[in-house]
Amino acid sequence: LPTVAIVGRPNVGKSTLFNRLVGKKLALVDDRPGVTRDRREGDVNFGGLLFRIIDTAGLEEADAGSLLGRMRAQTEAAILEADVVLFVIDARAGVLPADQPFAEMVRRAGCPVILIANKAEGGVGLSGAYEAFSLGLGDPIPFSAEHGEGIGELHDALGEALPKPDADDDEDAEDPAGRALKVAIVGRPNAGKSTLINRMLGEDRLLVGPEAGITRDSISLDWEWRGRRIKLHDTAGMRRRARIDDKLEKLAVSDGLRAVRFAEVVVVLLDATIPFEKQDLTIVDLVESEGRAVVIGLNKWDLVADQPGLLKTLREDCTRLLPQVRGVAVVPLSGLAGEGIDRLMKAVTEAAEVWSRRVSTARINDWLSEATSRNPPPAVSGRRIKIRYATQVKSRPPHFALFGNQLDALPKSYTRYLVNGLREAFDLPGTPIRLSLRTSK
Ligand code: GDP
Repeated sequence: LPTVAIVGRPNVGKSTLFNRLVGKKLALVDDRPGVTRDRREGDVNFGGLLFRIIDTAGLEEADAGSLLGRMRAQTEAAILEADVVLFVIDARAGVLPADQPFAEMVRRAGCPVILIANKAEGGVGLSGAYEAFSLGLGDPIPFSAEHGEGIGELHDALGEALPKPDADDDEDAEDPAGRALKVAIVGRPNAGKSTLINRMLGEDRLLVGPEAGITRDSISLDWEWRGRRIKLHDTAGMRRRARIDDKLEKLAVSDGLRAVRFAEVVVVLLDATIPFEKQDLTIVDLVESEGRAVVIGLNKWDLVADQPGLLKTLREDCTRLLPQVRGVAVVPLSGLAGEGIDRLMKAVTEAAEVWSRRVSTARINDWLSEATSRNPPPAVSGRRIKIRYATQVKSRPPHFALFGNQLDALPKSYTRYLVNGLREAFDLPGTPIRLSLRTSK
């Protein structure tokens, strides 16, 4: 779902707008004091527009001393996540200096903004609404969250501003088996990609071997595993084209990249009879930097004599050589014999699940205070680096943001400690994890 954030200074009516859109009064999910209760979220069906909405208004009950700093952190986090921002002002009060820092954050983020001049029921406060032009956030919509005025205009504006679901997802959404999971199988030439894909599809739709020379244009093959729809990237077809074009090296790289970008989960297929090579690591690096979930397939397992011994060695290699996708699933299989495909697909669907996981802000902050008290961030020129608050801003792959002071001075070893901690605490093996640092002055 796309995300919409409601932003504005205290008391402009953000909560009322939130309640009106969500359609019921939502209790605070977590009412312990502190940052974890600062936000409310809800899923909205607003006349056919589906989105997740974030409100930062829980803060308004916070004590005045810490209010603004926390409100800023909270607002920045919400804006970072948002596809569209609803910026609310009080039309009766007009534009106040207190609106400016929030407007500034929104302008800086550069995402679509809808400006709402609230409390303008029955035409009251129209001059305030016009003043709102001066914020540089576009035309204000005169609105009343309390009385439901301006709802039609807001609906139109949101319809314009929200990202359009792509045609593919649309079609998938109607399918009872759910959205198709996009999977690519990549690896060095002769690792056995085509053989494996043939075996999965259960028919000889791709030809294997050096004599094969058919060019195909389709990029994906539809398949089903245990009732789950899968789109497999057709790597083999591309390889054949590469041969024909006789530019193997160059195309292999760009085709690999294309396959990785197509996919949600990438199976890096190794030939288990050949030791790990730099090229294999380069492929995993590519998958990581493109932010895809990874599973390692050990192919040609039928040719391996000491299976337990080799599995142990290769698992250790993966732990040592691939720290960026720590905990990655390593699955022995034989495409030729059709063995281990079930295990592979189980690992693939699990990797997709981990990659899409969302962790609640409350849990992240519980973890953060534990992790930073066990191993506090170092001091930089006499001042302690302070991490105040953390939240997950995106999934696919999991992306977390930290807020605090002097975070740009955090040593790499410390961010690694945090990423490993997040991976452990929230069970996120085998996926890239992104971390953004937001320092407030
Ligand atoms: P690709 O370049 O990765 O698509 O590799 P291919 O699927 O064309 O396979 C390369 C060679 O390895 C072929 O001769 C296959 O028969 C062989 N091969 C593929 N998978 C296996 C396997 O699981 N076991 C064995 N023994 N041979 C395999």
